[in-house]
Amino acid sequence: MLTNSPGNRHLPEQGTWQQQLAAAITDPAQLLARLQLDPALLDPAGLAGLQHGAQGFRLRVPESFVRRMRPGDPADPLLRQVLPLGLELARTPGFSSDPLAESSARLAPGLLQKYQGRALLITTGACAVHCRYCFRREYDYAADTAEADSGRWEAALTALAANPSIHEIILSGGDPLSLSNARLGSLLQRLQQLPHLRRVRLHTRTPIVLPARVDEGLLQLLRELRLQTVVVVHANHAAEIDAEVTGALQALRATGLTLLSQSVLLAGINDAAQTLAALSEALFAAGALPYYLFLLDRINGTAHFEVSRERARQLMQELNALLPGYLLPRLAQEEPGQPSKTHIDIGSVL
Ligand SMILES: *Cc1c(COP(=O)(O)O)cnc(C)c1O
Ligand code: SF4
Repeated sequence: MLTNSPGNRHLPEQGTWQQQLAAAITDPAQLLARLQLDPALLDPAGLAGLQHGAQGFRLRVPESFVRRMRPGDPADPLLRQVLPLGLELARTPGFSSDPLAESSARLAPGLLQKYQGRALLITTGACAVHCRYCFRREYDYAADTAEADSGRWEAALTALAANPSIHEIILSGGDPLSLSNARLGSLLQRLQQLPHLRRVRLHTRTPIVLPARVDEGLLQLLRELRLQTVVVVHANHAAEIDAEVTGALQALRATGLTLLSQSVLLAGINDAAQTLAALSEALFAAGALPYYLFLLDRINGTAHFEVSRERARQLMQELNALLPGYLLPRLAQEEPGQPSKTHIDIGSVL
């Protein structure tokens, strides 16, 4: 498709990444019309979902991601990740607003440490896309984002400076690539001054949903970084990886950083071994090694995305039989109070 050619990244009607972000679709009716879908095709609760989606954690999806959806397919796996549904209004036992007990892991506002040697900085609450299954959909960013005013980054940097056991800082959010190059660059410069930091890691979905974000300014910043750099992109389905995304990921990797990917196992989206195998293959073709495949975090309104642990183990066994070992992500789950992510043993192929 012509729109997928890397050269098209610079066509004037697409604009800069900021312009593309500002033009992201936020109205469910507009998204359905864009995909030639009748709102009546949705489940009976769909209408409630459309209304719900207008408030709170509202629909947000850039055109570049919409372009990779199949028009006329209400079950499209990319559409399902972003379209608000009435199902989100269900309250399910075992699901809550803070299943990860993050509020108890704060070193400073926006700075979380749960694991030895590494800490996570919530640099911003903003994301280029709103994923319906997001574990942060109910997070109180206003109260706990390091960025909200400049004093907050100061508090986080002070806490980091006082913790020489922290060797790796993970920039997360939200999505750290929602920050401008200027803001990201000044944060990285400050971090680079801390002598005990060895590595910086960025957890981001933006290169996948808005590949134009990987612009020359960002690449320049990354090339100049003295800290070892790891970028973990978040992608859930092979259809997310088109030529433009491949170009963005290859450009990131060409700066010398280590490129990994993480995914969430989602019912109706990627819960089939062939689908997961295609995802690993597509990511590797674009230069990223699969890192984690997460079980869903049990956040309110996401129960319809859950895949059971038993089913997940079975899928991983099938996947293991389809892929070389280095393309197999680690099946993992985040459990509050544990000293690491919980790695789920998949056993041997039956
Ligand atoms: C997930 C997470 C990490 C990273 O864990 P790794 O296993 O190193 O990828 C670090 N800190 C926090 C608070 C996290 O939630
Ligand atoms: S990009 Fe990541 S943090 Fe942002 S809504 Fe999606 S899953 Fe959540």
